[in-house]
Amino acid sequence: MIIHHSRFAMRYTDYGIGIPVRDDRADRTFQALCGHSTVGARVAAWHYSEPLPEITAEDLLRAHDAAYVRAFLSDAPEAALMESYELLDEQGRYNRYDPAKAVRPLRELATTALGHVAGTAACAELALEHGFCHFLGGGMHHAMRSRGRGFCPLNDVVVAARRLQAQGRARRVWIIDTDAHKGDGTAEITLGDKSILCLSIHMAQGWPLDCTPLDSAGNLRRQFYPSDVDIPIPAGGEAHYLPALEHGLDLLEQLSAGQRPDLALVVGGADPFELDELPSSAPLRLSLEQMRERDLLVYRFLAGRGVPQAWVMAGGYGRESWRVYAQFLTQVLGERGG
Ligand SMILES: [Zn+2]
Repeated sequence: MIIHHSRFAMRYTDYGIGIPVRDDRADRTFQALCGHSTVGARVAAWHYSEPLPEITAEDLLRAHDAAYVRAFLSDAPEAALMESYELLDEQGRYNRYDPAKAVRPLRELATTALGHVAGTAACAELALEHGFCHFLGGGMHHAMRSRGRGFCPLNDVVVAARRLQAQGRARRVWIIDTDAHKGDGTAEITLGDKSILCLSIHMAQGWPLDCTPLDSAGNLRRQFYPSDVDIPIPAGGEAHYLPALEHGLDLLEQLSAGQRPDLALVVGGADPFELDELPSSAPLRLSLEQMRERDLLVYRFLAGRGVPQAWVMAGGYGRESWRVYAQFLTQVLGERGG
C-alpha cells in the first residue's frame, strides 16, 4: 500500500524560509508509479486514500515531554517551529528566514507536521494489515523528546511505534534508519526502551555529529546517544556501505534474541544518493543502483522473516531524489501486486 497526499509537501519558501529546495519528490514518485505500465494499471489496489487517523496530545506524549507538546499544540507554536527549522542563529537573529517574504503563516507548518505524524501512524497500521506500506512523507527522525530540530518538529516514527504498542497491536518494534544523517532524535527518545530496537546507518562525520561528543560540562551531547546498532560510514566509504548494512541487520536480529518484532519502521532517506542537492549529505554518495540495492536489502531481510514493514521518506532533496523511491516502489509493487 502507498499513502500519498499532495498537501504534505513542505514548500518552505511559502513561509519565508530560505531553503531553495522544492519538495515535490512525493508527487513525482506517485506520478512515476501511476505512469508505469503494469503498476499504474493497478493504482486502485495499492493507493490508500482514506482519511488519516487524528493524532492526539496523548499520542505525542508517548514520545515528547508535556511542555513541548503543550507549546506545539497551542495557538502559538511559532517558537517551537523556529527551533525545529533553525530559523534563529546563536545571537537570536533570523537565520535563512525573512517573514516579509512569507505568503502563509508559519504556524501552518505545525498542522503539516501533524499530518506527517498521522501519515506515518496510518502507514504502521496498514503495514500490520498488508505486510508492507510506504508513506510518501514522514521520517522526522531528528526530533528529540523536548524539542524539534533539523527540520523535524515531531518524531512521527516513535509516535507511530508507541501508538501501536498502546493499542496492544505491537509489542516489539524495530526502527531501521538509512537516512544519510544519524537518527539521533529517535535514539534519544527510545534510549533504554527495550521494546524498540533502533539501527542507524549514517555519515560518520558532519551534521548532527559535527562537534565533540562531550559538552563543556563533560556530558554526552544528545545527538551522540547511541542507537542499538550504529553504523557510521566515513567519507569515501561507499564501497563498504552495503556489506556494513547487511552486517548491521544481522546484529539487530541477534539483539532481538530470536524474538521476531511485530513491526519494522524503515526511515528510508534518499539523501545518501549522489545526486542529492543538500550540502550536508555530500560526504555520502551512493549511486542510484546502490540505493536500489540498499532498499531491497532491507526489504528482503524483513520480508524473508515475515516482519511487517512500514516505510517513510525522511531526507531527500533536489530534482532527482524521487528516482530513489520510484525505482524501489515500482519493483516492490510489481512483485507484491499491491
Ligand atoms: Zn537526512
